[in-house]
Amino acid sequence: MFDYHIHPNYSIDAEGEVDEFCQVALDIGLKEIAFTTHMDTDRVAEDCYVNVRGKRVDVGSSFWFEDYESTIRTAGDHYKDLGLQVILGVEVDCYPGVQDALPDKFYSTDFDLIIGSVHLIDHIAISANGRANEAFRKFSVEELGERYYTILIDSMDLEIFDILAHIDLYRRFGEIFYGNKIHEIWKPHLEGLSKKMLSKNVGFEVNTSPLRKGMQQPMPEERIIKALRRAGIDTVTVGSDAHFPADIGKGIKTALDMIKESGFEGLSVYRRRKATFVPWSDLTDEKEN
Ligand SMILES: [Zn+2]
Ligand SMILES: [Zn+2]
Repeated sequence: MFDYHIHPNYSIDAEGEVDEFCQVALDIGLKEIAFTTHMDTDRVAEDCYVNVRGKRVDVGSSFWFEDYESTIRTAGDHYKDLGLQVILGVEVDCYPGVQDALPDKFYSTDFDLIIGSVHLIDHIAISANGRANEAFRKFSVEELGERYYTILIDSMDLEIFDILAHIDLYRRFGEIFYGNKIHEIWKPHLEGLSKKMLSKNVGFEVNTSPLRKGMQQPMPEERIIKALRRAGIDTVTVGSDAHFPADIGKGIKTALDMIKESGFEGLSVYRRRKATFVPWSDLTDEKEN
């Protein structure tokens, strides 16, 4: 079993050293994990920091890329012998103009996996309780869908993303604000989204964090997973979005069942930004959470 979305304490909203996450991953029988520290570079939205050895540093500084890469690679060498693959990833927050804000060191770092995700609409974090309503008040539910999916679809033109994270993130706080209509806003954008994913060779993840927060469905919800499969998408990963070691691997089994039922024939793994397809038959049954 894999967990392809993990935030160690380089992310300012996460706790736990890389080593602690690896240890839990081993304990619960995971075979492969991806660390995916946030890269928030929108200076208007702020929070453009990472933590490095107890110090808050600007996300643009070379120092953190070097420290992060060497820490993950060292963990990779150590845990490989114990049966756990550890890969170097990053989660880039997408917004119009992000490509110019990403530091040179981002482009020169040898990542295994680059995840793209949308958290900001008009510089406001729709993933943050309280703040999300500031964005929602500006838009009808249809306009929100238009804004959100335009950023997501256009971001693939940058050709720097392997996987899109939590495709329907707006649902988390949007459901309370907009009601059930929030569950429909992906529909007009699905064709444009899937066509761009296919042409740019970008997959998506099933993110299990909502399952720990009282929601019934992962992100994206099952209907979107099925719709993407019907549209020809076959590249999918699964991740807990753990910000604490104890959350690693949580909900992955539920997500895998859903992915299988939706017609996917396996998962993809990444090395140096190259995807390898792994059929279900090669993903053995391990201890599951
Ligand atoms: Zn995210
Ligand atoms: Zn994340």
